[in-house]
Amino acid sequence: MSQRIGDLVGQGGRSFSFEFFPPKDEVGEAQLWAAIEALEPVRPTFVSVTYGAGGSTRDTTVRITERIARETSLLPMAHLTCVGHTVAEIETVLDAYEAAGVRNVMALRGDPVAGPRAPWTPTEGGLTYAAELVELVRSRAAFDIGVAAFPEGHPSAASLDADADVLVAKAEAGARFAVTQMFFRAADYFSLVDRVRARGVDIPILPGIMPILNLAAIRRQGELIGTSVPDEIVSRIQAHADDPAAVRAEGIALAAELCEELLEGGAPGLHFYTLNRSKATLEIFSALNVTS
Ligand code: FAD
Repeated sequence: MSQRIGDLVGQGGRSFSFEFFPPKDEVGEAQLWAAIEALEPVRPTFVSVTYGAGGSTRDTTVRITERIARETSLLPMAHLTCVGHTVAEIETVLDAYEAAGVRNVMALRGDPVAGPRAPWTPTEGGLTYAAELVELVRSRAAFDIGVAAFPEGHPSAASLDADADVLVAKAEAGARFAVTQMFFRAADYFSLVDRVRARGVDIPILPGIMPILNLAAIRRQGELIGTSVPDEIVSRIQAHADDPAAVRAEGIALAAELCEELLEGGAPGLHFYTLNRSKATLEIFSALNVTS
């Protein structure tokens, strides 16, 4: 079987994938490996590990991705950003991924260290946009490349059309698939797909799924990254405001409904933001009754 996610996603079947982040300490690391162990039997198409803002978390991403490649049956994708890196440093990280047997890289610009809404300043000797990183990674035959997509538009994009132009530029630079930011209206995803197809580009776009288990936290995060929580969803969650277990159950049910609508409408798969836990993702999976 191909080790390249672009081949696997492009085959026309449904892809299921899980995203993890590099843990900060031993407790977090144990939780991550428990989640990986619990999710492995679902046989996802791939799993991905995000890339942090600096220092040791970046080494952790390389180490975790390498261990997934070496010790599990899972196909890993390592995220990589332009934040704080010169081109030479990016090359060194790519060397490490290549040596670790990682064959898929998610090429991102990354957010400024001060947060997603802070102004972006490129590092001297580094890269300005993700499309440049795609070109750099593409110069190495070892890697297949994924990129980020934004159903509601990237918060700094001038318009939804400008945002679609950026995704098209990343595809033309060599990205073979895209994964979206979290969103809660299927229509936003399908409109993005339409905008990209209207530009003559058929890159598979995997919808990113985040269940709402805590409304306040999702709204806070959504404000930062440009994802809105629609009123009808807020009402359904708030109807259970006094009962955390019922809020959770409603959040899972809402995510499963979104997943069904996406798959029925032709989405090529689902990418779950797991937050290094398996329970919610497995619950959505069983509500969907899908097989990978
Ligand atoms: P780009 O595609 O470069 O776009 C960034 C901004 O620049 C956009 O507003 C775009 O419209 C604009 N732009 C791009 N090209 C041009 C151009 N030629 N001219 C003018 N404007 C342009 N962040 C992390 O730090 N680590 C991660 O692991 C990580 N994983 C992610 C995974 C997914 C699936 C997603 C959706 C996001 C992830 N992010 C991660 C967040 C991401 O890095 C931020 O959203 C970042 O602000 C944008 O990254 P990008 O790759 O889309 O950048």
